[in-house]
Amino acid sequence: MSAQEREITPASERREALKEVYAQTQACVRCAELAATRKTVVFGAGNADAELMFVGEAPGASEDEQGIPFVGRAGKLLETLLGEIGMARSEVFIANVLKCRPPGNRDPQPIEIENCHEYLYRQVELIQPTVICSLGNFSTKLLRDDPTGITRLHGQPQVLTLGRRAVRLYPIFHPAAALYTPRMLETLREDFARLPELLAQGAPEQPDWTEAPEIDPRELADMTADAEGAEPGAAGASAPPEADQLGLF
Ligand code: URA
Repeated sequence: MSAQEREITPASERREALKEVYAQTQACVRCAELAATRKTVVFGAGNADAELMFVGEAPGASEDEQGIPFVGRAGKLLETLLGEIGMARSEVFIANVLKCRPPGNRDPQPIEIENCHEYLYRQVELIQPTVICSLGNFSTKLLRDDPTGITRLHGQPQVLTLGRRAVRLYPIFHPAAALYTPRMLETLREDFARLPELLAQGAPEQPDWTEAPEIDPRELADMTADAEGAEPGAAGASAPPEADQLGLF
């Protein structure tokens, strides 16, 4: 599919595909411990056609209870900061690196990030945001595929190709960290204030996939074998619930 064809994929089709990803996450058991201890799978919430997407770390206790990301104190701060730049939560899409709560709010483990990152990448591909704000270290490191930390990177936008799309990545501090550190809150507020200008720049130039090299048929065979063996939660899973949990779609 060319870059131009991707641009014209109707929002309704992308939303339907997003519902399928939602259903896959609801049945996911890739991380045995998280699947056994979670109350809900927190897929993400908001405008499925948003220009601006936020990516946090992982659900906490309140999010796990309600099945919605950023509903605790960090979420309230995120909403306040959005309000200060004239935006509402309903305009953006909010997701996390992990869809399930790590017990006791421990840090996500590398294997869990590995297991879950495909869902986030599909969300990005289908929502097609112009700007992705990575909140804190985990999402920034994952999306940049680099260990450089948020203290060095916050407030510096960069164009990044994620999957087949170019987006403007804008790393900022995690609101939970800013809750207890007034200076960090000030910095977060300053970084937030630059978001409207970044959004006004529109989407970065998209890669032209018509010039992409042809895939080696041996690679294709490997990919097919992987896909057949690894559909999350496919084998023996009961039918996933309708995507009404979040009032999302
Ligand atoms: N912190 C996160 O990173 N995500 C949430 O959903 C809540 C708190």
